[in-house]
Amino acid sequence: MRPCQSIAWVILSGRVSPGDTVIDLLADSSFERRYNSGSNMKCLVTGGAGFIGSALVRHILADTGASVINVDALTYAGNLESLQGADDTGRYVFAQVDICDFAALSSVFAEHQPDLVMHLAAESHVDRSIDGPGAFIQTNVVGTYNMLEAARSYWQGLEGDKKADFRFHHISTDEVYGDLHGTDDLFTETTSYEPSSPYSASKAGSDHLVRAWGRTFGLPIVVTNCSNNYGPYHFPEKLVPHIILNALHGKPLPVYGDGSQIRDWLYVEDHARALFKVVTEGKVGETYNIGGHNEKRNIEVVETICELLEELAPDNANSRASGKGFKDLIIFVKDRPGHDARYAIDASKIQRELGWTPLETFESGIRKTVQWYLDNPEWWQRVLSGDYKLDRIGGADE
Ligand code: NAD
Repeated sequence: MRPCQSIAWVILSGRVSPGDTVIDLLADSSFERRYNSGSNMKCLVTGGAGFIGSALVRHILADTGASVINVDALTYAGNLESLQGADDTGRYVFAQVDICDFAALSSVFAEHQPDLVMHLAAESHVDRSIDGPGAFIQTNVVGTYNMLEAARSYWQGLEGDKKADFRFHHISTDEVYGDLHGTDDLFTETTSYEPSSPYSASKAGSDHLVRAWGRTFGLPIVVTNCSNNYGPYHFPEKLVPHIILNALHGKPLPVYGDGSQIRDWLYVEDHARALFKVVTEGKVGETYNIGGHNEKRNIEVVETICELLEELAPDNANSRASGKGFKDLIIFVKDRPGHDARYAIDASKIQRELGWTPLETFESGIRKTVQWYLDNPEWWQRVLSGDYKLDRIGGADE
């Protein structure tokens, strides 16, 4: 395609941001390659064996022509069984590497020569950050610093289009913004940071590092801050799978405080699509908030799961043995210290500039999720046969 044809295609396909000029488009020699369904693109994904990372890897392999180098230390949260079939694509490589190991990271860059980085590896569970914050500082802050330095050194050695097209995409959370006060406010990309937990503070620190590497060293970064995810392959310590699996085992369904905390829920496959869109089409240096337009109180989420289980698993032996309905298993437990009352995302920027919107409503996504856990007991039974036993953690002073 010649430049003028290429620009016409870009305009017709809606891939122009407000403010782009013809000069900008001509200057961006990467347009054709980067928008061609990602073919030939090598994506280095960190944390690809985790919940969101594995959804992203499955999306890239199934829906684009790009290949994946999955860098993951396989902590308790990493599970290669979430990536069955990836090897068969011929476009997937796994490297068991801790992002705190700078030398090993540098070798991965040198060996695989990625076109872009999508950095998801993190300690991600707020309750664990209350019990043991050290691992969160190490992986989320020091590990991100290592990623930035390894990526910078690699990127500085690149030339031509490969250097111009390189991206470092940092995947972060809406929890960095802290508690939303008032009922009408939403988090925007310019909301100031006010993290409440060791987890969100460590992610805030990593976000600042990434933006500083963009400003100071010119590393071509993009950042996304996303709301609460849910969906298949979610480690059972998080609210949605925890409730589904406790219910199926006839165990109490613990709800923090009075269950009134509000979160904006996003189906994980919608998040994966958003991430690939941002890394291939987002503007260097920009932040994009990603959210599901699905604000729900925690107690509503738990009750919805119970109602779906009544419908989809009416003969579940454990709940029948207790002689109770699933909702009767709900108990209210002492609130998590520092628990934020409400998070809600304004996702209008990514919608306006990149044309992304979630495909799932909360109702459709949560139904798919409950059905997935019912259909895939072998996945979660193997997780539960390890160290994790559906126990509550994170009380701090209990
Ligand atoms: P997860 O805990 O399910 O997965 C984390 C992955 O990172 C695991 O595979 C783990 O083995 C790997 N990992 C951890 N420490 C590592 C290290 N030192 N070196 C290499 N790999 C390491 O997390 P998730 O829920 O999939 O979250 C992924 C990212 O998305 C995180 O950065 C998180 O902050 C962010 N995020 C999560 C949510 C959410 O709702 N879960 C929402 C917004 C943003």
